[in-house]
Amino acid sequence: MNKKRFIIDAHQHIRVGSYIYSSKLEKSKIDPEQIFEREVRRFKDWFEKYEVAYGAVSNISPMVDRVWQSRHGGNEYVARLSERLNGRIIGLYVPNVFEPADIIKEKIEEAVKTYGFKGIKLHPWVSAFPLNHPIVYPVFDMAAKYGLPVLSHSARSEFCTPLLFVDIALRYPEVPIIMGHMGKQHLHYDVLPAMRLAENLYLETSGSKIQVLLERVVKEFGAERVLFGTDGPHDLLPAYLARIEDLNVSDEEKEWILGKSAAKIFKIQ
Ligand SMILES: [Zn+2]
Repeated sequence: MNKKRFIIDAHQHIRVGSYIYSSKLEKSKIDPEQIFEREVRRFKDWFEKYEVAYGAVSNISPMVDRVWQSRHGGNEYVARLSERLNGRIIGLYVPNVFEPADIIKEKIEEAVKTYGFKGIKLHPWVSAFPLNHPIVYPVFDMAAKYGLPVLSHSARSEFCTPLLFVDIALRYPEVPIIMGHMGKQHLHYDVLPAMRLAENLYLETSGSKIQVLLERVVKEFGAERVLFGTDGPHDLLPAYLARIEDLNVSDEEKEWILGKSAAKIFKIQ
């Protein structure tokens, strides 16, 4: 239980840019640079407090804003966070799927080459597009070209059900597609059939509470297809870790879930 593990948190967020819950007055007072510095502090403290090797991070604002305020809609803050955290951040780029295909491609290329992003993050529910819609194809074309894994939110929203993951995964078999939250509590029954249909589908554990489902997944598909995540970083990390340690799977399988799977997919070490 207290064994030292190699841990990667495959699902983290920074929040700089969009403040959807703030009043107009509050918004006028918000200085993004101040918020950014606060986020840098939060991440630094968290990595100091917990023995986590890497975190895969995306910003919330490019998912929420349909019209971006800057060229990369706030993804820039992830690149800057990465610079400040001494290589512990795996940057996940959030594309704007409502932009023209050639612009999407150009920006992803820039994200990879100039900013060092290692993967893509999509939130079909918050951004309002079906995961398998043709407007998302340019994103997957680039993911295929640069070997970028794609992490997407999944849940009962009609935009990101497990079956839509299968459809896009079969269209892009070379792209590792990570089902964030494993269908949450609502569509958990779709997860096993989805995993059977597409070999390039992976699962990320945050937001899902069903232990037996994880155990079944490991048994049938191997722990290599499960990535540990928190949707944090936050102080619930020990609880999330305890949940994995408590699984009825082997020690070696726990190691894959907690870090080795993500290291392999994101090509770390
Ligand atoms: Zn997320």
